[in-house]
Amino acid sequence: SDLENGRAPGEALDVLRRVFGYDSFRGEQQEIIEHVAAGGDALVLMPTGGGKSLCYQIPSLVRKGTGVVISPLIALMQDQVDALRALGVRAGFLNSTQDFDERRVTEAQFAAGELDLLYLAPERLRSDATPRLLDRGDVALFAIDEAHCVAQWGHDFRPDYLMLSALAERWPDVPRIALTATATEATHTEIASRLKLQDARHFVADFDRPNIQYRIVPKQEPKKQLLDLLRSEHAGDAGIVYCLSRSSVEKTAEFLTRSGIEALPYHAGLDARTRAAHQSRFLREDGLVVVATIAFGMGIDKPDVRFVAHLDLPKSVEGYYQETGRAGRDGLPSTAWLAYGLQDVVQQRKMIEGSEGDDAHRRRLGAHLDAMLALCETVECRRGRLLAYFGQRGRAADRCGNCDTCLTPPETWDGTVAAQKVLSAVVRLHRERRQKFGAGHIIDILTGRKTAKVIQHDHDALSVFGVGADLRETEWRGVVRQLLAQGLLAVEGEYGTLSLTDAAGEVLRGDREVPLRKEPERAKKPARTAGG
Ligand code: ADP
Ligand code: ZN
Repeated sequence: SDLENGRAPGEALDVLRRVFGYDSFRGEQQEIIEHVAAGGDALVLMPTGGGKSLCYQIPSLVRKGTGVVISPLIALMQDQVDALRALGVRAGFLNSTQDFDERRVTEAQFAAGELDLLYLAPERLRSDATPRLLDRGDVALFAIDEAHCVAQWGHDFRPDYLMLSALAERWPDVPRIALTATATEATHTEIASRLKLQDARHFVADFDRPNIQYRIVPKQEPKKQLLDLLRSEHAGDAGIVYCLSRSSVEKTAEFLTRSGIEALPYHAGLDARTRAAHQSRFLREDGLVVVATIAFGMGIDKPDVRFVAHLDLPKSVEGYYQETGRAGRDGLPSTAWLAYGLQDVVQQRKMIEGSEGDDAHRRRLGAHLDAMLALCETVECRRGRLLAYFGQRGRAADRCGNCDTCLTPPETWDGTVAAQKVLSAVVRLHRERRQKFGAGHIIDILTGRKTAKVIQHDHDALSVFGVGADLRETEWRGVVRQLLAQGLLAVEGEYGTLSLTDAAGEVLRGDREVPLRKEPERAKKPARTAGG
């Protein structure tokens, strides 16, 4: 009962302040924590960065016994546990990175009731020793992090997670809380049934951030475009600019500072002191800009970040959502601005191809990138697409009125002929010359430019040479970018060479039309609305 667990009203808030040093709960945290602390089961759907950890950490501290957290993020366990220990929380973990002795120590601590929290890798569940160990101690609750991993048809399925259905039978009196940041309606239902959480209370956070204005523009001169944005709409505002590489972080920060906007670099290559100094200046001072790789932002809780700008394409919609979500925590109008171009697609495909891990892993990365590209090229409401991605389409109006496609609906044009020109140039080079080239050279051929490379390869003799004089180079780049996004072209190898996909045949045969977004002359700035 409540009394046996030694709980009094307000205890959760007390722990939040005393142990974690925060003033107040966010969103539904308090309700979730009180529900679980009182012994209830819960299924929590909350965006990344929303504060899911506290939802099981505080009940673990408030309840008698050890909170057992099942998490697939083995690489993060040490850090999580270190961070908790620094706050005075007695935490430990068990996973495959430890040797026998390290595991023994943690197991003994658990059995002796000396742990508030125990993190377990899912593969631990494969061994019978784990349930026996858990019986030797006192389990306060089970937290199942990244709960979507139990969904067979999801993108992150982990067979070990299926074992978690046994928890309900073996420990019927121990409350369970499952948490995830990504779940479509279907995955949500599957999580509930596989984890036997049908009777659990569901807490579904609203993913919509109405005060954030989403804008995605074609990348032309990215630094200059960024400067225009900051000068015309965000003079004196605090904001974050994300770049993919350390060197572009450095260059962009220098460029902004030289242009009169004080900007601090932040990336993993800087020493810890500099990083900490830049972070704390950003938090303390008004109107500073941080230019960062994605290493920046974990745990940043600055309410008045007025803009988040991306100079490179994020690798996934989850990443984009999480990073843009650092804007406007105070609810005031804020901008999420992203510039992306053909080179981003080429570069990221190359990174995926060269990434470590198996084919399934690469396919998953590819699917993440495709979803991000679809968001970039959509002619529909950006917010609607974002919410649909997180399974919350029902929550959105058809047109939000506060994103670029709503404010200045993109014009489309029939790009079928242009697409056929690009595709046949690629096909001809391959069939007639056994050659593959990158986008830049293909565009030179189409626009009839006699570059050194064109002459060297005798490409001005090709029948497609100069057939694309009707469009400017930037327009052709837009065409190629969109063909990549639509899956009609593929890019591969170190040089980002283009090749056709199966679907391209339909276009070449004239069986498929290719509607394309018109490239803006110069990224126009949509009117600012009050948001909300
Ligand atoms: P999630 O697991 O949902 O991605 P986290 O639990 O890691 O999110 O929380 C994200 C960040 O927000 C962390 O730095 C955390 O300390 C902070 N945070 C969570 N809840 C609160 C709160 N009530 N007040 C202030 N900061 C919070
Ligand atoms: Zn919209």
